[in-house]
Amino acid sequence: MNDKLLALEQAARQLEPTSYDRKSYLSQLIQYTEDFFENLPDAPANIPSLDFGKALQEVPIDDTPINFEQALQLIYQNIDNQALNPASGRYLAYVPGGGVYPSALGDYIAAVANRYSGVYYASPGAVRLENMLIRWMCKMVGFPESIAGGNITSGGSLANLTGIVVARDSKKLKSREYEQAVFYVTTQTHHCVRKAIRVAGMADSIVRNVGMDQNFRMDVTALEHQINADLMAGLQPFFVCGSAGTTDVGAVDPLEDIAKVAKKYELWFHVDAAYGGFFLLTKLGKSIIKGIHKADSIVIDPHKGLFLPYGTGVILVKHQQKLYDSQHTTAHYMQDTYQSIEEYSPADLSLELSRHFRGLRMWLPLQLFGVAPFRAALDEKIHLCRYFYTRLQTLENFDLGPFPELSITFFRYKPKQGDLNQFNQKLAKAIQDDGRVFLSTTLIDNDFYIRMAILNFRTHKAEIDLAIQIIQEKVEECL
Ligand SMILES: *Cc1c(COP(=O)(O)O)cnc(C)c1O
Repeated sequence: MNDKLLALEQAARQLEPTSYDRKSYLSQLIQYTEDFFENLPDAPANIPSLDFGKALQEVPIDDTPINFEQALQLIYQNIDNQALNPASGRYLAYVPGGGVYPSALGDYIAAVANRYSGVYYASPGAVRLENMLIRWMCKMVGFPESIAGGNITSGGSLANLTGIVVARDSKKLKSREYEQAVFYVTTQTHHCVRKAIRVAGMADSIVRNVGMDQNFRMDVTALEHQINADLMAGLQPFFVCGSAGTTDVGAVDPLEDIAKVAKKYELWFHVDAAYGGFFLLTKLGKSIIKGIHKADSIVIDPHKGLFLPYGTGVILVKHQQKLYDSQHTTAHYMQDTYQSIEEYSPADLSLELSRHFRGLRMWLPLQLFGVAPFRAALDEKIHLCRYFYTRLQTLENFDLGPFPELSITFFRYKPKQGDLNQFNQKLAKAIQDDGRVFLSTTLIDNDFYIRMAILNFRTHKAEIDLAIQIIQEKVEECL
């Protein structure tokens, strides 16, 4: 027995690298990340994939170890040097963010120490840190800090799902009522909301696309008409989703007016501010996103407007108790943790039990930099988008969307002859294949448009000027 244990121990001990090895890993890692940063200003925003990372499969997961240098090479060649590069300031697609560096260090500390952030009992400090961040965001959106709360999730989709589940539970909807329950959204509402309705078990509920004005904002008169019609039909109006910055075009719904209707008809008012929420840190953003404090629940994505690396969303609920009532449950093996608690635990406010201590990746950059540079970067993004829009207005034959509300806009080029959609598809592909900047595309009323989405903290005037120059070059090439 002893010999066997000793042999197993010897093999198992390989899981703990020596101090010498750790330092060697780290110094190689520092070299790797410094090379990354050194190349970033000139690195393409898109490298069309040649082998799609397939070489990773040539090194199977088995009993043969590789060394750290080989691992870094595999990561570089198959992942970090292929396809889209959201870290680049010239990545202007979907909803960028960038990934501020201290977040990586926060993740590193969280992973090394591996503190358990699910329950207050296990790490009161970790839970307090996350709740402090949540209270800071509650204050930002204008929720009453004494009763509001929330949870840091892995992203906006999970946060939206949580919002829908809390609404459902708080309204005490029975499953037999799902077929009568009505959700109100617009065609601009992010698709994860529809997905969340399905995942929440409410696929048989009714989802109404409320009409929009010319600027893609919910038409609140149409909303009220639809609610009345649904009530007349014996249905159960239940949930309205406003967007504070739609992903497609950056439209901000008239939240004040939606709130009034929601109150009048006792609907749960949810605001998806995954993209736009952090603009509330700026004066301009505050003047654009009005009435958000009247929501019952709000989604914000720190991996967008706070420029964190992917993996961080937030759900805020005006009455934290409702979130707790929806998500809390007990188990015998958890009984040690049910002691006097000063703070709600993430495990009682979300689906997750064991979870990444993701607060640290948000807390560290906010503490190291202070909020001011974030506010400046966000203000800069709104002004960069206006700059882009007005520059394109001065060029001939560009068809633009409405004046941008936040930092997303869309455009297409109108050639003198030929099919508009075909031309713009060709133009978009030419821009994407060039790779110096990366822009994504969308359909507006079934017409093909190119989007300009500015939300990477590394995007400044030079990047936008380059994008305009490349767009012009590619238009000439495609004509
Ligand atoms: C990005 C986005 C989402 C989805 O969030 P993920 O973090 O990607 O899951 C939801 N709503 C809006 C408005 C978004 O921009």
